[in-house]
Amino acid sequence: MTAVALVPGVFADVVGQDDAVTVLARASAAAGRIVAGEPVPPGEMTHAWLFTGPPGSGRSVAARAFAAALQCPRGGCGECNECHTTLGGTHADVRIVAPEGLSIGVSDMRALVLRAASSPSGGRWQVVLVEDADRLTEAASNALLKAVEEPTDRTVFLLCAPSAHPDDVSVTIRSRCRVVPLRTPSASAVADVLARRDGVDETTARWAAAVAQGHVGRARRLARDADAQARRRAVLAVPRSLSNISACYDAAEALIAASEAEAAAATEGQAAAEKANLERALGAGGTGKGATAATRGTAGQIKELERKQKSRATRAQRDALDRALVDLAAFYRDVLMVRLGAAVPLVHVDIEDVVRAAAARWEPESVLRRIEAVLRCRTALEENVKPRIAVEALMVTLFEG
Ligand SMILES: [Zn+2]
Repeated sequence: MTAVALVPGVFADVVGQDDAVTVLARASAAAGRIVAGEPVPPGEMTHAWLFTGPPGSGRSVAARAFAAALQCPRGGCGECNECHTTLGGTHADVRIVAPEGLSIGVSDMRALVLRAASSPSGGRWQVVLVEDADRLTEAASNALLKAVEEPTDRTVFLLCAPSAHPDDVSVTIRSRCRVVPLRTPSASAVADVLARRDGVDETTARWAAAVAQGHVGRARRLARDADAQARRRAVLAVPRSLSNISACYDAAEALIAASEAEAAAATEGQAAAEKANLERALGAGGTGKGATAATRGTAGQIKELERKQKSRATRAQRDALDRALVDLAAFYRDVLMVRLGAAVPLVHVDIEDVVRAAAARWEPESVLRRIEAVLRCRTALEENVKPRIAVEALMVTLFEG
């Protein structure tokens, strides 16, 4: 237990990732010695890191914690201004890139790379954190590679991606990075953090951790947000609702509408605030020739913002739909486990009666076909098949079995 006590405060929220935290804490201690001008053996600290792990494993949480540990004079105390501003995304020497749309473009990346080459204003490190390195365009990826290949002394790149596979990160970038693999945290680790950090009561924390399948952010939402709970219940009611073909189309329609509503709720407030800010910055009103020309430029900027916002909303809708599909897949998985008498815990612990009723009715082969249909639908959505078409096809297969 003494080793745990030595881990700096900022890593407390990196849930269920003891190995990764050990590596990062050691590297940030070495980074502190470099800043102090002390000799450090080669390899103790390096300037490019790749955080990999499934969605919800906390890639960007781990990367932010590491960035804070690098900027903090006490190696990530979690209490000072450097730690707070880094974790909050406002530190002057930590540039965080989160994708606005489906991919990160070359212009964003060039701006970043320029910024990365300047020396840190606070005298420690210039950190560039790319939250979804797998969503870089090829041109952006090339711009990033140049910077990673020729880093300045005090620049650190922190890249996050689902895996180190060439589909996610180019082989050349990967070869320049030290990989920090994160795993899906255990349900008990997720429940602990919900109870400790978010003050969720123990029963709710355990339930949310189980049904969120190791996704920390989703577990927190389910524990605290009644709308998120209602959406989950609606998704889990789908299998029982499929009594005929027309019910399949209704279910598809409802699922699409729910994912649109969820995406709108998640992005609309931000979109309105961004537009108001932009309009204020551009200065509304004014007459005469100069003002007319300025208005034309203004319209272009507003159009550009609207394009980005639309792309972000599309992405949010797809993410919402994907979460619904993951819940559905887990339902059929639970049914299969019960049917086969496997001694493993259920995901959807709170609807065990529904799971058992389905298991009594369906052959294992047909349950498996349903699971495969859900996975096929996810792949189709990834490949940009229209959501309605993919989901309707899914519902028909789930009905027929
Ligand atoms: Zn600190």
